[in-house]
Amino acid sequence: MKKRVRPFIVGNWKMNPATLARAEKIWVDVQKGLVGRKGQSDVAIAPPLPFIIDLKEMAGPQKIEFVSQDVSFHPEGAHTGEVSVSQLRSFGVKCSIVGHSERRADGETDQMINRKVLALHEVKSSAIICVGEKSRDSTGDYFNVVEDQLSATLAGVKVEDLSRVIIAYEPVWAIGSGKNANASQVEEMKLFIQKVLSDIYPREKASMVRIIYGGSVNEDNAEELLKVGTVDGFLIGGASLDAKEFVSIIKIADDYARFV
Ligand code: PEP
Repeated sequence: MKKRVRPFIVGNWKMNPATLARAEKIWVDVQKGLVGRKGQSDVAIAPPLPFIIDLKEMAGPQKIEFVSQDVSFHPEGAHTGEVSVSQLRSFGVKCSIVGHSERRADGETDQMINRKVLALHEVKSSAIICVGEKSRDSTGDYFNVVEDQLSATLAGVKVEDLSRVIIAYEPVWAIGSGKNANASQVEEMKLFIQKVLSDIYPREKASMVRIIYGGSVNEDNAEELLKVGTVDGFLIGGASLDAKEFVSIIKIADDYARFV
């Protein structure tokens, strides 16, 4: 039986907001909203990289991790514009989102994502690997799409590094569209992802991998996606830039973790 895991709530700010001052305001408001929270779930935010050091310095007592939105697979050297896994670690960022559909749309391949995962594991950092179909039709081909993405991006990932893998199921059609996958679609895909993982890894190790969902999550659908969708948390875009809504989703996850 799958052991319960703590929900993991990650806010992906993407290339927002436009200024550091506005980023600070969101961050302050999130922290204010969480005052007194006991913290039944794990929370992280992925702001634009140039803002991270400043926001980290403004961090209050709530334990909120900083995650990067991407990372280079090159270890160091002449790679203009890239940021390495060890550079991230040197300022306390130990987890990166990889393979977001917006990066895939710009040409990132499963093989590149796989190299990023392995580079992160090399320095004992974690990878949030995004997978998800562009669209659905009645043939069920979207299962093959997700299976192929999983096997390619996990190639060579050792079983001992599986605790440093989080799978984010993000159907592309649900991202930023205001149309989330419904809870039963999410549950079905979560079970499928678990099966694919346990075809590759020992079942008890595979069952510990957190499978989170992303795609138009908000304070109205979060509870059902956790309870019925049975996911282990969320990757949240738009709603994570609204401090009040992000806090509300975190509290929903905390309550879910407390009572289920
Ligand atoms: C995302 O970009 O990962 C995402 C899930 O965005 P949104 O929540 O806005 O759909």
